[in-house]
Amino acid sequence: MENNELWRAVLAQMQLHISKANFATWFQNTDITLKDNERVVISVPNAFSKEWLSNKYYKLLLKTMHNMDHTIKDLEFTISPQSFKVSRLENSLESEKNDIEQLKFDEFKINKDTSLNPKYTFENFVVGSFNELAYAAGLAVSENPGHAYNPLFIYGGVGLGKTHLIQAVGNKIADDSRKKKVKYMASEKLVSAIVTAIRSNTMEAFKASLAHIDVLIIDDIQFIAGKNKSQEEFFHVFNSLYEKNKQIILSSDRPPNAIPELEERLRSRLGGGMTIDVSLPDYETRLAILKTKLQEKNLKLPEDILEYIASNVKKNVRELEGALNSLLIYYKTNNNIPNLETAKRLLKGFIFSPFDVANYKKIIEMVSKFYNLEEKNLFDTTRRKEIVKPRQVAMFLLRKELKYSFPAIARKFGGKDHTTVIYAYKKILQESEENSKLTEELNIIKQRIYSG
Ligand code: ADP
Ligand code: MG
Repeated sequence: MENNELWRAVLAQMQLHISKANFATWFQNTDITLKDNERVVISVPNAFSKEWLSNKYYKLLLKTMHNMDHTIKDLEFTISPQSFKVSRLENSLESEKNDIEQLKFDEFKINKDTSLNPKYTFENFVVGSFNELAYAAGLAVSENPGHAYNPLFIYGGVGLGKTHLIQAVGNKIADDSRKKKVKYMASEKLVSAIVTAIRSNTMEAFKASLAHIDVLIIDDIQFIAGKNKSQEEFFHVFNSLYEKNKQIILSSDRPPNAIPELEERLRSRLGGGMTIDVSLPDYETRLAILKTKLQEKNLKLPEDILEYIASNVKKNVRELEGALNSLLIYYKTNNNIPNLETAKRLLKGFIFSPFDVANYKKIIEMVSKFYNLEEKNLFDTTRRKEIVKPRQVAMFLLRKELKYSFPAIARKFGGKDHTTVIYAYKKILQESEENSKLTEELNIIKQRIYSG
């Protein structure tokens, strides 16, 4: 891979891991200046960037590059003033500038009153079986805020569109009626606002500032876990809005009953309206999402490439977008459409084989954590229900996700008869088809296995 091409691919991936504002700040005017055997030298515009990148992003950058090119084992940063860039391709410089301008522009567009980003709308939200219930509930709430479902609680893994959906609801309500006051807050913001208010003795003023709101949207509410003072104050804010039939919308990475260290009365409030999950998009939906994103940008890519991405990038929608963006950056820089071979090379870092991340250890760890057991309990010879079910789930996942043979699983579990394992596998399989609670449990465990 050319240095230039490699760096573009790296940048595309870095964007997935850090906020847009950080990306624009730290990666503007960076490049690869040299690549000898195992070492890559990255040029940065000033000492500040050098310090920051080497302290904060060294590991992530190295890992990302190493994934794309296994020969790379070390990174170095060197300061090189702006003029250095003159020799570079005019057009690549221009496109880099545009990309960064675009990023900055997006940050600026956030509405000052509502804190909503107008780019999140229902119109550009793709609906499939993985999110249709959440979508329908969101739409219902936007048409009848405060009266359809209250609170609306959307949960699911990262990058599955929770923020997009809850902001789309907010944007629609704000667009439909100028009179309705909508406020969006990430839960970290909420917590820090509450902490500040407590410290400066301005809690009443803080509450008063929320009292006139018609729609309060709190993103990633799970971060309030363990923060008792914030929970207490939020509980009161919640109640006073709820009693006035004001709409509350929340998102989280898990359902209310799975958030640890949450005060019981708040937990019951959070789960007291409509609670819906978003799961993973299937192949057809992944393809539809790619096509929608391309259409938005007014661009085209060959069908075989889109199919390649849709069949291989399965983790979440954010990764899907990231994969697409890295091809588009290549497209813009080189002024030609990548062919399938090039695309495969560029996308190496996105394609994840389940075998890379799921393994025996992780399955045992995540299953026992989920059911609040110690790992060794899974192997106890007991028929206690609290243990039997998690053990069967572990057996099921070893078979389903890792394709372990039944006798191999039996050996892991203290040399049980392998027909016991077959029985466990069939039982969980059948129950998961009939019992949506179990399906949900399996989904959460699987998401953790693959994202950890
Ligand atoms: P989450 O909040 O669940 O982590 P986001 O809402 O931030 O996920 O989504 C990640 C990215 O994927 C965003 O750019 C978002 O616009 C896009 N995205 C997610 N779901 C969809 C969807 N159903 N249709 C279109 N774009 C989506
Ligand atoms: Mg989010």
